[in-house]
Amino acid sequence: MEDAVSASSAGGSSQIVIAGAGYAGLHVALRLTARLRDHPDVELTLVDRHDYHQAITELPRVAGGTRAADAVRIHLQDVLATRVRFVQTEITGFDLAGRRLLTRAGPIGWGRLMLALGSRPNDFAIPGLAERTLSVYSATDAERVWEAVSEALTAAAAAADPAQERRLATVVVGGGGATGVELAGELAEMLPKVASGHGLAAGRPAVQLIEAGPAILAGSSPQLIDKATRILSDLGVQVRTNAAVAAATEEGFRLTDGQLIEGGVFVWAGGVKAPELVAGSQLPTGHNGRVKVDRYLRVLDHPEIYAAGDLASVTDPRTGHVLPPLAQVALEEGETVARNLDAELRGRPLEAFTFHDKGFIVSVGTRRGVADIAGITTGGRPAHLLKDAIEWEYRQSVRHLRGWDPVAR
Ligand SMILES: Cc1cc2nc3c(=O)[nH]c(=O)nc-3n(C[C@H](O)[C@H](O)[C@H](O)COP(=O)(O)OP(=O)(O)OC[C@H]3O[C@@H](n4cnc5c(N)ncnc54)[C@H](O)[C@@H]3O)c2cc1C
Repeated sequence: MEDAVSASSAGGSSQIVIAGAGYAGLHVALRLTARLRDHPDVELTLVDRHDYHQAITELPRVAGGTRAADAVRIHLQDVLATRVRFVQTEITGFDLAGRRLLTRAGPIGWGRLMLALGSRPNDFAIPGLAERTLSVYSATDAERVWEAVSEALTAAAAAADPAQERRLATVVVGGGGATGVELAGELAEMLPKVASGHGLAAGRPAVQLIEAGPAILAGSSPQLIDKATRILSDLGVQVRTNAAVAAATEEGFRLTDGQLIEGGVFVWAGGVKAPELVAGSQLPTGHNGRVKVDRYLRVLDHPEIYAAGDLASVTDPRTGHVLPPLAQVALEEGETVARNLDAELRGRPLEAFTFHDKGFIVSVGTRRGVADIAGITTGGRPAHLLKDAIEWEYRQSVRHLRGWDPVAR
């Protein structure tokens, strides 16, 4: 088989360790569980700093106050079979030569390691950004955004003059990718509804979306961008493109052209990069610090380590481009890693990873959205309902996958 390599040369694999219980890592843990019935000698360990998995794609709703933070936390004890050993601890480094994961709870040895530690916000070394902006990368982050917005609206209502009131009641979102668009849309729809509870007129709160490039949702079809722009405009979001942030100062975002963007709350959604831990690890890394892998998703020069999700730099052979950091990609990569770990246990050939693009959906506000699926662009209520349905189905599937047998399909 052209796309296969014999697993038998890869060495022993009785201890499988998965680092990270996000989209990719949890998927592998759930998928492998049933297979291990035939391999009582194999120990499967999942390591994460939290004892819950986070449905990150739903965070803009938490930040916009329409979903409780607890609703997007899925407790691992509810979904993992007893066969999986879960260790809640912070991973602090790697002992590659000794094949050990270094953690606050002590070293954890691996025969096979799967790296799925996700990503973190990329501040692009813009001065002041990390200190002066909020991010939306965990349920706790998203809760903080909603709290900060509520506090800013209360302060706006108590402001001495209209200019100060306007400034405090403005939320500035940096980064016009999918996360920034979802967040801006959600807030623009919700703020007028909650304004009176803070003693403000419905028209007082404002949302600004700041994008460095010439368009929001870069890389999407012009039709999708047009539909999203129209919905944002209808919701009252002020979209500024070609507006690169040079610094985050006490006064607000200073753009490269010198303009100052003032506001009461600043949220950064300008992109992601690999976790710091990977930077100092000796693992081979590419753009944004993502770990380079071969076609089987094994780290280059480290065939005993797999990497998947945001952390992995996976090139789509059909386009020559590195796949974007998306949950959809993380889940598909997780599926390939689960199959390849299973293949190794059975001495079968490994599978090369192939990405099957299911399309792109962005919710814009609490009722509408935009979608590009199979070359067809749609916008409005159906796209929003579809995103809702996908997120609901994901949460169900995580619970349903417990003990499900991937080979017996
Ligand atoms: C606000 C927002 C909205 C998004 N919306 C969408 C969307 O609609 N559709 C889509 O396809 N994608 C979306 N994405 C992208 C998607 O969430 C990511 O691509 C996906 O989460 C990547 O999965 P992962 O398994 O690589 O990492 P994650 O899901 O981030 O999981 C990483 C795990 O590793 C753990 N971890 C990390 N470091 C350590 C450490 N040192 N010690 C212990 N544990 C550690 C974390 O706790 C976490 O559980 C969105 C992202 C954001 C931020």
